Amino acid sequence: MNMVDIINKKRKNEVLTEEELQFMIDGYLKGDIPDYQVSSLLMAICLNGMNYQETTDLTGVMLKSGNKIDLSKIKGIKVDKHSTGGVGDKVTLILGPLVASCGVKVAKMSGRALGHTGGTIDKLESIPGFKVELKQEQFIDQVNKIGFALVSQSKNLVPADKKLYALRDVTGTVESIPLIASSIMSKKCASGADKIVIDVKVGEGALVKNLEDARLLASYMVNIGKEHGKETICVLTRMSEPLGFSIGNALEVMEAMDVLQDKGPEDVKKVTIELGKHMVSMGLGISISEAEKMVKEHLKDGSAYQTFLKFVKAQGGDIEKIKVAPKVFSIKSSRSGIVNHIDAYQLGRLAHQMGSGRDTIEDEIDYGVGIVLSKKVGDFVLENEELMKVYINKKDVKLNDLVNCFSIENDLTNETPLIYEVIK
Ligand code: URA
Repeated sequence: MNMVDIINKKRKNEVLTEEELQFMIDGYLKGDIPDYQVSSLLMAICLNGMNYQETTDLTGVMLKSGNKIDLSKIKGIKVDKHSTGGVGDKVTLILGPLVASCGVKVAKMSGRALGHTGGTIDKLESIPGFKVELKQEQFIDQVNKIGFALVSQSKNLVPADKKLYALRDVTGTVESIPLIASSIMSKKCASGADKIVIDVKVGEGALVKNLEDARLLASYMVNIGKEHGKETICVLTRMSEPLGFSIGNALEVMEAMDVLQDKGPEDVKKVTIELGKHMVSMGLGISISEAEKMVKEHLKDGSAYQTFLKFVKAQGGDIEKIKVAPKVFSIKSSRSGIVNHIDAYQLGRLAHQMGSGRDTIEDEIDYGVGIVLSKKVGDFVLENEELMKVYINKKDVKLNDLVNCFSIENDLTNETPLIYEVIK
């Protein structure tokens, strides 16, 4: 077997065998196959796709590259949650404590910011003292006691994905449905949970831009989950405008705390309740309507918020000390009308440039910077009324670029649902 033949096969849109995929992953991890050959294969996969069997085989091969996490010492059914990534997506920070307060165990591993999207680990690190690394026994003990712990992905969790993802990130090969499905599902299957709920984000601010591709991605992931004995549910949700009002690490933690106290933006609350009801129904074996009632009650009566406070304290964080950037600018509208569109992708990139994300692994994040929207799609705005506040520290941003992220028209012409559909 040799790599050039494998690349040529995919270039001609032929189907790769499990042995060929295993050969590529083994050779790449050992350093026998160079980056440029793997990049070439990844691009051929991006252009010609992979069928369901190839995607399942690639997932299995990647899964075998590392160790599976053993969660057997955690009592009860463990349910995991994943988001394909968006702008302003702070849902995990609310959902983990919420579902745990309902009695479902959540032993979660998360990643850092990718491209224009944020990462849960970076958001939690904006809380002074918060530790994102725990010893395995501490992690398990915390989940048994509080119901929820969240740590950064260990080095040995699917090393093949780590290496491939870093290469995809710099070769324009992230946005491929079979590559996204195998990357996510290999990590979810290795993470040890019994059941999985995935928020598949759809729209310009997401990796998947349209509903048709989102449906295909969801069906691949649901079926891969089944083959590995992990019931998987995908909820397709909107990511054209940012989720909620705030974008940026500390600002998003603060908004998550508002929602946990039954305040905060409606869209964040709705997505959280939608995902939460599936997690609780799967975890406790109750009907969706019973689970929805329970989730709403636990958000209202403060039990989810109390679980959040215990979780932050258990991992060393001091929530009282969280800080936002000192310089605040108000961005005003140049005309009156109805907000038709807010470009989540551009706002995510601008927040990133202000310091909320990294360009290289060595870059330091500025946790307090970001954007807080004052208007959302469908809102009426007057000329000179505030569209958003910008929190800046050391790096600057062109204020005009921010204004251009808003499309304001006389009528609302562009309305999309927040929750599209559930695929299981
Ligand atoms: N998230 C992942 O973990 N992998 C992808 O390929 C895309 C999003």
